[in-house]
Amino acid sequence: MSRNTNSVLDHTSEELRQAFAREGLERFRADQVLRWVYGQRVRDFRLMSDLARPLRERLYETWSLGCLERESSFESTDGTRKLVLRTHDGAKIESVLIPEPRRQTLCVSSQVGCSLDCSFCATGRLGLGRNLRAGEIVDQVLHGAEVLARSGKEITHVVFMGMGEPLLNLDNVIRSIRILADPRGMGLSPRRVTVSTAGVVPRMAELGRALPVRLTVSLHATTDEVRNELVPLNRRFPIATLLEACRRYPASRRDRLSFEYTLIRGVNDSPDDARRLVKLLHGLRAKVNLIPMNEHPGSAYRRPEAPQIEAFAGTLAAARLPVTVRRSRGDDIFAACGQLGAPAPSHEGQTRLILSDKQKGNALRHR
Ligand code: SAH
Repeated sequence: MSRNTNSVLDHTSEELRQAFAREGLERFRADQVLRWVYGQRVRDFRLMSDLARPLRERLYETWSLGCLERESSFESTDGTRKLVLRTHDGAKIESVLIPEPRRQTLCVSSQVGCSLDCSFCATGRLGLGRNLRAGEIVDQVLHGAEVLARSGKEITHVVFMGMGEPLLNLDNVIRSIRILADPRGMGLSPRRVTVSTAGVVPRMAELGRALPVRLTVSLHATTDEVRNELVPLNRRFPIATLLEACRRYPASRRDRLSFEYTLIRGVNDSPDDARRLVKLLHGLRAKVNLIPMNEHPGSAYRRPEAPQIEAFAGTLAAARLPVTVRRSRGDDIFAACGQLGAPAPSHEGQTRLILSDKQKGNALRHR
C-alpha cells in the first residue's frame, strides 16, 4: 500500500486503458479494474475475482491502488468526521466528512501544509510541505466514500477547503476533478465541486476556463490594510484586483460567486466593515458565508460574540446580499475551517470547546 508506483488513481479511464495497452493488456481490463476500485471500493488487485490470477499478480507488482493510509479518524459530536491520512513519504494530511440531511460533503486537502501563512489559520503555521498529486486527492475521496459507505451513504459534493491553496497546485487539482468526474470512475459532476482560493488572481481564470466548478473566494477583510495582515497574499493581489478577477470569472447564471468571511473580534467585525463589504460586492451576484473565527491554540484571534455576528449578517441581509452564518462543524475535534493541522485536542481541550459551544447557544443560524 505504501508504494508510490504508477497509481491507478492518477489516471482517467482513457489514460488507464492506454497505459494498459502499452503493457500489452486488453483495454477493457482497465474498465474492470476501475469498476472494482470505484464501484466496489476494493483496494487489492488480488481480490479482483474476474481477472485471471496471473494478471492479478502482475498488476499487484506493477501498479498501486492509492497510497494514503488512514492513520486515525475523529468523530465530532455533530457527526462531522476528520480523517487523518498518511502519505507514502510520511506526511499527514486531513480530510473532513460533513454529513447533512440531503448532502454528504467531503472537504479535501490540496497540499501538505500551506505556503500562504494567513495569520488566523492553523494550517498556515505548518508551512508548505509539498503539492499533493492528483491521485492523492482522489484517494482522499475514496477514503471518505469508504467511511460513508458503512452508513449506506455516498459522497455528493467535494470542496477544496482543506489544507493548502488549491490554485497553487492547479494542474493536479484540475486533474483530480477530471478523474473524479470520469463516468467510469466516480462520476462526480464538477458542478458539485467547489474550489476555495485566498485569491491567486492569475489562476482564477485558468480554473474557470478548464472546468465548470464553483469558486469561492476567501475575502475576510474590507480594507487592504487589514487584509494584508490576515492574508499576506493580498500584498500581491490586493482587494480591487481580486474583485476584478471575480467579475471576470465565468459563472453560469444561476451560480452566485461566494465569498468566505471569517469574523474575528475587533479585527474585521465592525458595522463599518459590514457596510464596506456591501459596497465592495455591489453588482457582483455574490453571496457571503460568514465563518465565526474558529479559535485554536497559538492564535490570539477570538470569535465575536453572537450579537456582533448577528448584526454583521443583518447589515448584509438588509442590503439584499445573501448571507449565511456557517455553524462550524467539528470544532470539538479541530476539524473546522482553519483548524486542520492543529494538534489533535487533548481530552481537556475537547471539553473546553464543547462547553464554550453550548454557551454560544443557538444564536447562529444554521447553514
Ligand atoms: N487556501 C484556500 C483553501 C482553504 S479553505 C483558501 O484560503 O480559500 C479554508 C477556509 O477557512 C478559508 O476561507 C480560510 O480563510 C478559512 N479559515 C482559516 N482559518 C480559519 C479560522 N481559524 N476560523 C475560521 N475560518 C478559517
